[in-house]
Amino acid sequence: MREKFMRFMYGRYGVDAFGKELLIFTIVLLLLGRWTRSEFLSMLSWAFLFYSYFRMFSKNIYKRSAENQLYLKKTYKLRCWLARQKNMMAQRKTHHIYKCPTCRQKIRIPRGKGRIEIRCPKCNTTFIKKS
Ligand SMILES: [Zn+2]
Repeated sequence: MREKFMRFMYGRYGVDAFGKELLIFTIVLLLLGRWTRSEFLSMLSWAFLFYSYFRMFSKNIYKRSAENQLYLKKTYKLRCWLARQKNMMAQRKTHHIYKCPTCRQKIRIPRGKGRIEIRCPKCNTTFIKKS
């Protein structure tokens, strides 16, 4: 069975980043369609599902790869922003991030040191904050 599937997938495109996120989007759309009982949304999610499968089994690897590159390029800023948000959330547990009152420079301070004087590395302004 597994071998049969491998043979079937040989020379086909498979799943890439675009395909993966397309599937996630499709599932969200499907659930949303169920939840709102919207005929339109469920039709749309079926269309996206077919498109996902079409891409997966496509033999035109060059074209699918170009679609993926375009998708990655178009979502680059969004993905950077999401990664930054995730990073900030992770740092929030161990660090405080303050903005310098003078120059708005962001300054990262480790938590749990009590009241401390912070010197801005950019403009040398000092200010007192609780860490
Ligand atoms: Zn400053």
